[in-house]
Amino acid sequence: MRFTKLRLNGFKSFVDPTDLVIHDGLTGVVGPNGCGKSNLLEALRWVMGENRPTAMRGGGMEDVIFNGAATRTARNFAEVSLVLDNQDRLAPAGFNDQDQIEVIRRITRDAGSAYKANGKDVRARDVQMLFADASTGAHSPALVRQGQISELINAKPKARRRVLEEAAGISGLYARRHEAELKLAGTEQNLLRVDDVLEQLA
Ligand code: ATP
Repeated sequence: MRFTKLRLNGFKSFVDPTDLVIHDGLTGVVGPNGCGKSNLLEALRWVMGENRPTAMRGGGMEDVIFNGAATRTARNFAEVSLVLDNQDRLAPAGFNDQDQIEVIRRITRDAGSAYKANGKDVRARDVQMLFADASTGAHSPALVRQGQISELINAKPKARRRVLEEAAGISGLYARRHEAELKLAGTEQNLLRVDDVLEQLA
């Protein structure tokens, strides 16, 4: 899977719809301080399911919505779309029926976030899994924030291990194992309840 296009609309400083087309090879983004280079990287993280406002340099998730400027009023929503080339058909089941996948995340003031993949409503978890399985995603070590290298150098071994696991594409498996363990615990509780009922009937 390869990213081919990022579209921002009302996201941080990108008040008007803006497309970033990602061609084969290296893509460089250059511009003066404060023009929105880091906002582009944050949009990428956000559409892949980032849920920590601090990772978006904000106090709350709605801070990603354009909050107005001298000549423009604030927007009521922000939307980011990421188009992926899936010709190699490496996307997980549920996403793998088309050559191209378009993931859209939209946040509306007072109404939270919603996701779509190729026009259908999907859960945040589905989107996070899609990218975790592809060794990318909101926490991917391929997205390097300012100050992240020194954080990594000073990190404890456990935190460094998480970075390696993310790069190896196995973090999705951990999330699935955790879900399976929760289901197992629920089923064990149900079995205990059944035993109680049987005992009462005996
Ligand atoms: P530098 O080169 O200094 O790191 P940069 O090109 O990475 O800068 P960003 O940090 O991406 O720039 O962009 C910062 C700009 O985005 C600031 O002008 C800030 O006011 C604007 N900005 C951030 N959040 C919002 C928002 N919710 N609404 C409007 N503008 C915003």
